[in-house]
Amino acid sequence: MPTAIWGEPEPERNEAYPLATLKQLVHQMMVHFAAQGACLALYDALPGQMVIRLHVRLRNGGAGGLPGLGQSGAEGVHRVGRRTTINLQDPSSSAVGRLKRTPGAQDELEDVPPLPGSLFPVGSRYAPGQDLIGYTWRENRSCIMEHESYIYAFHGQRKTPLSLDLRPYWYFAAPIQEPVLAHEESGQRPTAQPQVLGVVVLYKLVPSPGFDLKQRQEIHTFTERMALYLENHRLRQIQRRTSEHLQSLQQLSAIFPSTVNLAYLLEQVYQFTRRIVDVSAMLVTLYDRDTRMIYDVYAVRDGKPVEGLPTESVEPRTRRQWWRVTQEEKRTLLLSPAHLRQHEYDELLQGVWGDQRQAESFLLLPMKMFNRVIGSVSLASAQPNAYRHEDIQVLETMVQIITVGIENARLYERSRRLLRKARQREESLAAMNSALQSISLVLNLREMLDNFVRAVANLVEAEISVFFQLAPDGQELIAQAIYARSHKGASNEALSFMQADSEKERALIEMIRLPFKGSLLERMASEGAFFYLDAGLAEELAQTASEGGAIFLRETQIQRMLMIPVQYQTELIGLLALHTPRQDRVFQPEEIGMLLALCGQAASAIRNAQLFEQIQEANAELQRMNTLKDEFIVTASHELRTPLSAISGYASLLKRQSARATPQQILRFASKIAASAQQLSALVANMTEAANMDALGRKLELHPGPVELRTAVQMAVSILSINIEQEILVNVPEGIWLHCDPQLLRQVLTNLLDNAAKYSPPESQIEIRVREMTLGEVPLPEEQVDHEALIEKGADLPVAVVSVCDQGEGILPEEQHKIFEKFVRASRTLTTPVRGSGLGLYICRRFIEAMGGKLWLERSVPGEGSVFSFYLPRTSPPPEAHEQEEEAASDHEEPA
Ligand code: ADP
Repeated sequence: MPTAIWGEPEPERNEAYPLATLKQLVHQMMVHFAAQGACLALYDALPGQMVIRLHVRLRNGGAGGLPGLGQSGAEGVHRVGRRTTINLQDPSSSAVGRLKRTPGAQDELEDVPPLPGSLFPVGSRYAPGQDLIGYTWRENRSCIMEHESYIYAFHGQRKTPLSLDLRPYWYFAAPIQEPVLAHEESGQRPTAQPQVLGVVVLYKLVPSPGFDLKQRQEIHTFTERMALYLENHRLRQIQRRTSEHLQSLQQLSAIFPSTVNLAYLLEQVYQFTRRIVDVSAMLVTLYDRDTRMIYDVYAVRDGKPVEGLPTESVEPRTRRQWWRVTQEEKRTLLLSPAHLRQHEYDELLQGVWGDQRQAESFLLLPMKMFNRVIGSVSLASAQPNAYRHEDIQVLETMVQIITVGIENARLYERSRRLLRKARQREESLAAMNSALQSISLVLNLREMLDNFVRAVANLVEAEISVFFQLAPDGQELIAQAIYARSHKGASNEALSFMQADSEKERALIEMIRLPFKGSLLERMASEGAFFYLDAGLAEELAQTASEGGAIFLRETQIQRMLMIPVQYQTELIGLLALHTPRQDRVFQPEEIGMLLALCGQAASAIRNAQLFEQIQEANAELQRMNTLKDEFIVTASHELRTPLSAISGYASLLKRQSARATPQQILRFASKIAASAQQLSALVANMTEAANMDALGRKLELHPGPVELRTAVQMAVSILSINIEQEILVNVPEGIWLHCDPQLLRQVLTNLLDNAAKYSPPESQIEIRVREMTLGEVPLPEEQVDHEALIEKGADLPVAVVSVCDQGEGILPEEQHKIFEKFVRASRTLTTPVRGSGLGLYICRRFIEAMGGKLWLERSVPGEGSVFSFYLPRTSPPPEAHEQEEEAASDHEEPA
């Protein structure tokens, strides 16, 4: 409340009242009406009362020596001595002297200090009808009154009596009426009775002369002038305020188009608004046409900006009132308490800016952009009539300006978002590129897979990424590479041991196996699209998973794991699993897009790497073959040379001695030549056989039939025994029939017996024996077990196991599995002058396998001997053999 304190320097320019001027006018009135005291009350809209703004007395015609009422005691008047109004510097200021003087223009005025309970203290307020001032205001006409009547009329009932320092005798009160001009100007309809702007009271401190009635006409001219001054001052105030507002508006319009920070702009709007009007709460609401959503973007509550507004938007249907006022009516809405207390506008009055239903003023300004409303500014104040016509006009202009600014800011935000997105896309493209390179440029499968899981995890910021490869039999998925990114320094306990560096850790990784065939994974992956595994599905899978798989599924806190099938063309190679522990994350479409692309690339890279490995293996094989070939050429040339030199040697001997040689000699030489030629042709046959076996698609020509084993063995032994020094024991009973090609069987037997003889000392024993058993009972080494045959033919298929046992040099354990390969000879044999091409066992094994059997080294101890065995299916004897047998039996009996 503006209160002017007397004695202060000149009032400020923006003072609510022109007090200095009014004081002069009051002074003139006092002089004119010969009054010693006067007070002026002016209407104050805020309390809606008259408030005393001025109370003065003439210093020379004033208080000092006037007869006080203090001594009368009747009204409890206080002592004069307490007053400080006597001008002590003025020697003439004696009470009598002052009284005798007639008041004149030169008489000085003094302010009466506003003592509590005194007459008309400055600052006291009066309601209509209250005291002389309220009475004059209500009656709206001047009145003259004697002191006694005044006390009687207005203070008779009061408990605390008026405390008077001086005794006034007469009072003259007059209303200051609003000039008619003001109505015309403001365009308002003139009221029947002019408004009262204030009340002036003159009083006399001498009993006579009193005020007379005709002076009531005169006082009117004074009050009229006062009213004009007041009105003029008010208009000037408005003008000044308006121009100040215009200045701020200019500042605003300078800030708005150039600033694109919405938060800053809205803060400026608030600061500007509170300079113009009283704002206890403010709310800025925007409507986004694109998203069709409503956002509360700025709020002030109890004079303080609300921090951390909820960011979510609401749908228009949840703000029906707001929609109606802004989008349909598109109007400025000014509500007075009468409206505010009804419930019609409740929705507008509640929300993030608090409950404004108890506010005294409410104003909603729509933010119009051409014909469309992009939002609103709502203001509320605890003061009644806080938003006046001229203020609203300024605020409307402000809203106009900010509407454009906010649209700008929003457009800018949007384009910045688009830009950011574009940049992000660029960045992720670059990341994607390098990820692709790290996958495609590596031919080592392990390294490639490590790169792959790392690249995808980094690309989409997942903490765990695992590549599971489908096992060749399609039964399960086996982890091949794991990447566990430690997030903010926290390592993932469950996977910490799986950062594969060593072979041992590799083996650990491969222990993570997930069931595939018939599991939910197969079902979900069969669609070919990506899918998510939540905690429930992970647990379901863990129930049937291997231990390693179950640990992975249970311990890595899967909330939502992304699974992407890695496919090469239509063939499923494996699954990529990605997740972050405890996170229920759904990947963005563009992330999925990148992952799918990477998985596609990875699939072909995996295939490439596998092919490369195969090629490398083939290469290594080729190299090995090359070395073998070199070795072979050495042995073969040696092998060829030996019989060749024998042939040429005996042939030239024959030629030279043909004339004198005896027929026996010629026969011996010829037999030597024939034997060497036989050896040579056998060697060449072996080599041709081996070469033929390698030729792609070449199948052995078989002529299988029932072959009697003992006959076949004896045939082989008889061919061999001529040339060897060892004794051959045949432990084969008659009547065991094998289903095989007799030619090939004989060749195998000869070869095995020949080896036994070649690699055994002379005079040692060679035994050939047979065991009849079923396929399931054959004591095959693990790698030779023929599962397919077991399933196809059954474990109870009758077979015969034929073994050739020698007491020879034996074979070192590390070389035992190699001797069946082409051209391979045991190292010891290479240093001794035993003939051989390294082809025999290779060919024998191929022959036996072609006939549905297996050939293996059953036992070999260096220095003690070896046992080579093979089995072939048994068969029943042919009918004619049966007859022959019977015949033989009867022949045997007859001669007796
Ligand atoms: P080779 O023509 O060298 O005998 P094989 O394929 O028949 O070729 O045999 C391969 C190698 O296996 C032989 O060089 C020899 O080192 C070893 N080997 C074969 N049979 C025996 C055996 N009974 N005792 C010891 N070593 C043998």
